[in-house]
Amino acid sequence: MFDEDDLLPLSGLQHVIYCERRFALVHVECLWAESNATVDGRHIHERAHEVSSESRGDVTIARGLWLRSLRLGLSGKADVVELHRIDDSSEGINLLGVSGRWSVFPVEYKRGVLRHEQAYAVQLCAQAMALEEMMGTVIPAGAVYYGKSHRREDVPFSDDLRASTEEAARRIHEIARSGSTPPPVPGPKCGPCSMKDLCLPDSTDRAGKASVFLVRALRDASKADP
Ligand code: SF4
Repeated sequence: MFDEDDLLPLSGLQHVIYCERRFALVHVECLWAESNATVDGRHIHERAHEVSSESRGDVTIARGLWLRSLRLGLSGKADVVELHRIDDSSEGINLLGVSGRWSVFPVEYKRGVLRHEQAYAVQLCAQAMALEEMMGTVIPAGAVYYGKSHRREDVPFSDDLRASTEEAARRIHEIARSGSTPPPVPGPKCGPCSMKDLCLPDSTDRAGKASVFLVRALRDASKADP
């Protein structure tokens, strides 16, 4: 179990699965660069959080819910948590002041069109595992909603996905504790990566931190000034 002070951002999971260096640049070196994709993604998340909660028949929707898992050592926000009224009184949770039992179904908002992304499935699964820990229930599935196609992919929280989520959480703590940035592993994923101008994936000096490259670039620029 982790202490509150040791929790890392749940959003770091999608970075570490995409690329360990990207995770370290963002969460160890505290660097960030926007691209059209990251700006679109941020707007989708902001829109998802605009209304705090609403009810539609047997579904209640909570938005922007804070989550925390001491077991995984993560905290963050869920875009949407749907609560579905269920008949089975042995499952789900109670809602204060509302009759019946309710099952919990997290939904993560992403840009683009419907597709399967393991990084998104792991991030969603971590949200579910945090909700399970906080609410004392079992959450069998959730969904990733894709803003461009207005469609969502259901994601069952299988044993394999839960194990991948635990491994990703373990790895981000390991990298954060080490305080060092893994070297780049150039590949097709670098093309759309918003961090590539800071990462310099094709640099021959692969052991260096991006912040070191930045300092060198600034020093070289100042030498070049007349
Ligand atoms: S540019 Fe490539 S190596 Fe660098 S952070 Fe992005 S994906 Fe990783």
